[in-house]
Amino acid sequence: MKTGRIIVIVAPSGTGKSTLIEKLQRDRPNIRWSVSCTTRPKREGEVDSEDYFFITKEEFIRRKDNNEFIEWALVHSNYYGTLKSTIDESVENGQVVLLDLDVQGCDSVKKLYGADAQIIFIEPPSIEVLEKRLRDRGTETNAVIEERLNNARSELKRSKDYDYRVVNDEFERAYKELKRVVDEIILEEKNV
Ligand code: ADP
Ligand code: 5GP
Repeated sequence: MKTGRIIVIVAPSGTGKSTLIEKLQRDRPNIRWSVSCTTRPKREGEVDSEDYFFITKEEFIRRKDNNEFIEWALVHSNYYGTLKSTIDESVENGQVVLLDLDVQGCDSVKKLYGADAQIIFIEPPSIEVLEKRLRDRGTETNAVIEERLNNARSELKRSKDYDYRVVNDEFERAYKELKRVVDEIILEEKNV
């Protein structure tokens, strides 16, 4: 059986992960993007079924009880989960699949897939810069920003626990490094 490779990107909220991934999706169209389910409200500009499958809490719990997720987590008071069907399909087709998860999701995926899942931690230059990016983005209330900053402080303690680490300081520099790491993971997969 052909096997695919799983690339997971993790970063505290506001680091710039979505911006980096968006660019990567354009430059590496062969990488499959895993669309997660979430119960959080849709942000302006987000598209249902492209950014997330936006579902109700009841629907999320029904799917969780139906074992439709390979992992799920409560992040910043909302549920998020990765669909088993997406990952199974990618692995069977020998495709590289990219997941955007929090640290709990990373730990679950690593446990399930071991070295077949390579995890890249994206770090902000500092907590102060992270706060500024979150505030300037203007998509969350003050209370939500505070919650995300608190979570960021504990997530940052995990930055060295994964396979790769990229600091998102200057965007173009960080993007180049991220792309190099992703290409390295893909190349390793081809050489197996
Ligand atoms: P995340 O997905 O990690 O929560 P976003 O991609 O939404 O974060 O980025 C948070 C904010 O920071 C956005 O307004 C984005 O334009 C900005 N941003 C991203 N990367 C950088 C960078 N390297 N330098 C300055 N601002 C950045
Ligand atoms: P946001 O609400 O900013 O889009 O995402 C909040 C956090 O949830 C981010 O750290 C993101 O990586 C994480 N996340 C998104 N989808 C999933 C998922 O399917 N599972 C897990 N565990 N975390 C997710």
